[in-house]
Amino acid sequence: MADRAQTGISSLWKGMSLTIRHLFTANGKRKVIPASSDNYFKQLEGTNTIQYPKQSLPVPEVGRYQLDVEIDDCIVCDLCAKICPVDCITIDSIKATELIGYTSDGSPKRIHAAKFDIDMAKCMYCGLCTIVCPTECIVMTNQYDRSVFGLSDLTYEFSDMTAEEAKEKQALLDQQLAERAAAKQKKDEGGSAV
Ligand code: SF4
Ligand code: SF4
Repeated sequence: MADRAQTGISSLWKGMSLTIRHLFTANGKRKVIPASSDNYFKQLEGTNTIQYPKQSLPVPEVGRYQLDVEIDDCIVCDLCAKICPVDCITIDSIKATELIGYTSDGSPKRIHAAKFDIDMAKCMYCGLCTIVCPTECIVMTNQYDRSVFGLSDLTYEFSDMTAEEAKEKQALLDQQLAERAAAKQKKDEGGSAV
């Protein structure tokens, strides 16, 4: 009987001391430290969280978060869309009838991006698209908090062409192709007449 009482008191004391320890620990605010700090993952320990969104944990430089595309530097090569394992990049391209300009790394631009959409709801953040991009214009940013109300809002549109502009460029290309085909036919007919 005495043993049981002693065990009960001992358990009670352990429980109380644990509760009191947590009570005081919970009053301390967690510090925001750089991702490069050796103690970065120790922040998961403790009883209280940081005061988000007033405070937020710095993210590692090599972290993979929301994608961004600098469309002026895109040569519309389609490599990113081809390598994407989940087909979440959709590009509609229109060949330009003449040189459009140059990217910031000096690559010539000869194709218009009538559409350049990335469905971040499908994206698995593998980063493959950023690796294959020859002009490094598609990048992973450190933005992780982009809450939206509708699923379709997670499709980011990067093309800066309007539907009218795309139609106009397509008409110019069709005209150029028709002229080339007519010139070739004329040449072929001239050759066969000789
Ligand atoms: S990070 Fe991966 S899944 Fe996401 S768009 Fe790029 S290739 Fe596709
Ligand atoms: S790989 Fe780069 S340059 Fe090619 S289409 Fe994608 S974003 Fe544009």
